[in-house]
Amino acid sequence: MAIRIDGKELAAQCRAETAERVAALRARGITPGLAVVLVGDDPASQIYVRNKEKACAEVGIRSFPVLFPSGTTQEQLLETIDQLNANENVHGILVQLPLPKQIDKNAVLERILPQKDADGFHPIHAGRLLNGEDTVVPCTPRGVLRMLKSAGVPLRGKEAVVVGRSAIVGRPMAALLLREDCTVTICHSRTEDLAAHTRRADILVAACGQPQLITGEMVKPGAAVIDVGIHRVDGHLVGDVDAASVEPVAGWLSPVPGGVGPMTIAMLLQNTVEAAEHALS
Ligand code: NDP
Repeated sequence: MAIRIDGKELAAQCRAETAERVAALRARGITPGLAVVLVGDDPASQIYVRNKEKACAEVGIRSFPVLFPSGTTQEQLLETIDQLNANENVHGILVQLPLPKQIDKNAVLERILPQKDADGFHPIHAGRLLNGEDTVVPCTPRGVLRMLKSAGVPLRGKEAVVVGRSAIVGRPMAALLLREDCTVTICHSRTEDLAAHTRRADILVAACGQPQLITGEMVKPGAAVIDVGIHRVDGHLVGDVDAASVEPVAGWLSPVPGGVGPMTIAMLLQNTVEAAEHALS
């Protein structure tokens, strides 16, 4: 039976570490601040934003919610980003995705000053990460790596397979695992014979947005399986992994809920505090 990698418990530890760093900054007269920009009235996004604000408050980070109606123009949004870039009380900025279709997401993400980019989505960070340099790492892959390390999963020289190639999860995840000396394969919707790849994985990260796509017969016995997906199916939350069939085969498995989700928010807080620390140095 797989060892459960409890993201909820680890996230609580991470938040406690972050709260100490916030207290140290406050003692030096700096309160870290995170601006959370939301455009439109998508209910899921509203919940994410509220959760992020709540998590900030718990560790002593000041949040600056910026709410725009769905008809907002790109110029209005860019103007706000410029103001937040110039605001010295704001150390981190995140723009909740997805954005309405009249707005060019890349133009907005690239307008955020890289040193204030709490999500690490700026192409400068993506490039540095790919070069194996230290930089702001997107929250979800950063959380996944922390989960693997805290569980003591061996990484160096191991086969890692990432299912999904999005700019916010799959690609940075692969780059991070490469930085940890894994041998990395990235799979996607055009991959032929997905199972042939996943069965070779010592570390398997499922981030494909397909409910329970990864089943027990696709997993190498003893592998570490991290489930990034989150879906509501028949009133229940499930991931991209079919936990019931994978649990008897895998060596480690992260649950849904209580796995990657809480770690993503914990890493957002950490990125924000690090931005404030860098602003001081
Ligand atoms: P995207 O939809 O942006 O990307 C999904 C990726 O999976 C794409 O690269 C796609 O390939 C690939 N894919 C789709 N179907 C298959 C398939 N049948 N076989 C192999 N690959 C496939 O999703 P995200 O990366 O944003 O998110 C992935 C999942 O993680 C989602 O379930 C999302 O809800 C969840 N998520 C959870 C977070 C958390 O904090 N827990 C945070 C962020 C995301 P292609 O490129 O060819 O289209």
